[in-house]
Amino acid sequence: MFSHSRVKIAIIGAGPVGSLCACFMAENGYDVIVYESRTDIRLDKSTSGRSINLALSERGINALQFIGLDNIVIEELTEPMYGRMIHSVDGQKYSIMYDINKSKCLYSVSRKELNAFLLTKLEKYSNVKVNFSYKLIDVDFNSKLLTFQKLLENQQQETVKPDIVIACDGAHSVVRKHMIRLPMFNYSQTYIDHGYFEIKLPSSETKDILTPGHLHIWPRNTFMLIALPNKDKSWTCTLFMPMEKFPLILESEKEDILSFFNEYFKDFMDLIQPEDLLNQVTNGKARTLISTKCNPYHVNDSFLLMGDAAHAIVPFYGQGMNAGFEDCTILNQLLEEYDHDLKTVIKTFTSRRFQDAEAISDLAFYNYIEMRDLVARRSFLWRKKVDNILNKWFPQTWIPLHSAVSFTSIPYKQCKLDNQWQDQILFRMFILFATFFSIGLYFIVASIMSKTLQ
Ligand code: FAD
Repeated sequence: MFSHSRVKIAIIGAGPVGSLCACFMAENGYDVIVYESRTDIRLDKSTSGRSINLALSERGINALQFIGLDNIVIEELTEPMYGRMIHSVDGQKYSIMYDINKSKCLYSVSRKELNAFLLTKLEKYSNVKVNFSYKLIDVDFNSKLLTFQKLLENQQQETVKPDIVIACDGAHSVVRKHMIRLPMFNYSQTYIDHGYFEIKLPSSETKDILTPGHLHIWPRNTFMLIALPNKDKSWTCTLFMPMEKFPLILESEKEDILSFFNEYFKDFMDLIQPEDLLNQVTNGKARTLISTKCNPYHVNDSFLLMGDAAHAIVPFYGQGMNAGFEDCTILNQLLEEYDHDLKTVIKTFTSRRFQDAEAISDLAFYNYIEMRDLVARRSFLWRKKVDNILNKWFPQTWIPLHSAVSFTSIPYKQCKLDNQWQDQILFRMFILFATFFSIGLYFIVASIMSKTLQ
């Protein structure tokens, strides 16, 4: 372990990425202070932290490995998902495994539990301090001053001057908002037309309908319902649909709400009491989904954005947090590569990460179409079969897109490029096959006709 105890690192946000990043920096010997606007999620049951379940995959697990938490997180906090279980409107179900050998899986984990787990790990480092209820309100990039509002102490303000600031303050990052005013800083955000609404399914005997080991999907073309398993055998379900449709369904009469769910998610309705569903609908609310892009991720050589603060993506590839965790791995690699020359590390991070973040952002948009529509089509299932065969023959070269993204650490940009050449090869093979088939058919018909005419 290096000793960098004189360098003071401030990390803004103790979400999953901020907590993990703080562990990485502490592990490297830096003095770390974490500032989090919320109260400690481990103590406050009413905290407004997201209750969502996340799919943890290879990139996230690799990052957890660095602080020795990969196995314990998998064992204690997660439920494996070996494939997707598709629920058709007519009640039929079929499984699409992620991997032909059924050896690869995604891990369903509660965001809140994982976050709490990381915070507990974080507190064990003697060189880390976590300040809860400290809300960053102002940033001065030139003088490196950060101003916080202390939410539990009569809103008093405190100004600090760390050496390095790593902003992991999420999709609506305050640090990034201040960066927008700087010259040569590029930023764009897109609220997609679709949003999400969460429904909790209590733990009960759901095995026939919600078979364990799967991510369950009810694809309905322009909308979909998904269900992820929890450790306590309950399920966290999410209804994704166009935002404009939510009020039409969720704010209608009770009978209309139930008839919508009965029409599109009949087997799901066998698992939940109508009163429970109506109660959740009345008390819950549909949430928006935002995708943000910016460049660069740094200001001068002392401010850096990571995780959702740098690249918030739509959730359909289950990669937002995994990508944020991978940011920590990349940061760590750069620390080694540049022998802890932090100024160079911060300046290099953008160029090392930007294209991959752009790629996963684009792929995540595409995957929504795959999940809500394509998985229900025959052509998708055929493509999956061909992909699996080619992957079996050429395991090193033909890695299907979903596997490359979820089960490897191949850079996201490379995953996207590989998928493009795979598409081209399959298209050419299809044309070749269609041509041979047409020529063959022509000769067969011609020979039959010539025999008939004789
Ligand atoms: P956040 O989780 O947003 O944490 C930011 C932290 O900063 C928070 O604790 C916040 O309180 C704090 N903060 C904010 N502002 C301030 C301030 N001014 N001062 C101090 N602190 C501040 N990802 C996956 O990998 N797999 C999935 O399956 C998946 N599914 C998802 C499903 C849904 C419906 C959604 C919405 C997202 C999903 N994601 C998934 C994405 C994932 O939730 C995010 O990528 C991840 O939470 C980002 O972590 P973060 O720490 O960067 O940001």
